[in-house]
Amino acid sequence: MDPELEERINEAALGMVLWGGEEKAVLEKLKSNGIISAPARTHSPGLSTFNVQRSTFDVNTSNVSHSGIPWAATFRAALLTWFQAEGRDYPWRRTEDPYAILVSEMMLQQTQIATVLGRGYYQRWMNAFPDVAVLAAASEPDILRVWEGLGYYSRARNLQKAARAVLTDHGGSFPRSVAGLLSLPGIGRYTAGAVASFAWNLPAPLVDGNVARVFTRLMACDEPIDRPAVQQQLWDWAAALLSPDEPRRYNSALMELGQRICTPRSPACLICPVQSVCASAGPSAASRPKKSPARATVLVVEHALFARKEGKILLHQESGKRRQGLWKLPERPAAETSSLPEILTMTYAITHHRVTLHVHAAPAADARAGESWHSLADLAELPMPGPYRKALNQLLHPNG
Ligand code: SF4
Repeated sequence: MDPELEERINEAALGMVLWGGEEKAVLEKLKSNGIISAPARTHSPGLSTFNVQRSTFDVNTSNVSHSGIPWAATFRAALLTWFQAEGRDYPWRRTEDPYAILVSEMMLQQTQIATVLGRGYYQRWMNAFPDVAVLAAASEPDILRVWEGLGYYSRARNLQKAARAVLTDHGGSFPRSVAGLLSLPGIGRYTAGAVASFAWNLPAPLVDGNVARVFTRLMACDEPIDRPAVQQQLWDWAAALLSPDEPRRYNSALMELGQRICTPRSPACLICPVQSVCASAGPSAASRPKKSPARATVLVVEHALFARKEGKILLHQESGKRRQGLWKLPERPAAETSSLPEILTMTYAITHHRVTLHVHAAPAADARAGESWHSLADLAELPMPGPYRKALNQLLHPNG
């Protein structure tokens, strides 16, 4: 790039709020050519007292520093003041027990707070497995049964693996650092940051979906959020903005801002505590973050048997990675079920798959590998994927 032109662009990135037409035209050209991967802030009333900070740009020809965001202190203070007045009281915020916090974080990774709390999952788990020792010694069916309905069962298994590692490798106490937490099975960067800051008030940054949304709007980032370079940028922003003095409250506040104010479809910019420093505040906020095109939906058809014998029902235990250990109606190829009466059809979605499940009444037959007969009285104790639990309930209790 022409050095003089680069210098002008960098100057603009560092401090210019009002741009001339020529700079705007150049910027648009750079964006369209992929030389600049995130847009500059343009002038807005909310930004009039702040310089545009350089880390909102990623000029590929320069080495951009992410520290020194000029409005970081304003942002932290506004966020913490809002949280002091508006922050919600959750059970995991009343404890500094890293195990209880880890349980809540694992549950909340793919599940809404309303489900985890309102349907009693968190409390049931803590009652059944109150500490790492009890969880480490529990049987897998017991764990899956308590987790049933939350889906993504690897989270429950990873919790037990982490509990066992804490017992065997750390004498029963969680390692008190992000690096130590990352060494535990199933704990990634976000979870380590959450446990370190919430349990021990360590200055550990975190980025989850809510935080990522807030940051892309604050910084007017229009790059697809799932790109590795953007993910790294988000973590850089998280580190630069983190409160060094109150990381526990700050991280809680940041996540809650994303959950309640800076929501995906209807961000409440008018009442947002950080509106004055946000580059997206206003009607267009909901257009961010951008994502790469979604994966195409894959249609899947399953055929399963409903076979009964002497008060028992034939079930198959899953051995695949996703649902390992869970029980379901035994599946058969379509050709094997074409002559059997269909007694139930239902659809369900899992990740980008849309599944149509056809259940066929079948005569008692020999159990195949992985299959066995179970009395109806035992069904409630067997861990089962949600759609299959629903199908069985409809078949066994058609009148509710
Ligand atoms: S001003 Fe709007 S877009 Fe910006 S952080 Fe607040 S709610 Fe989100």
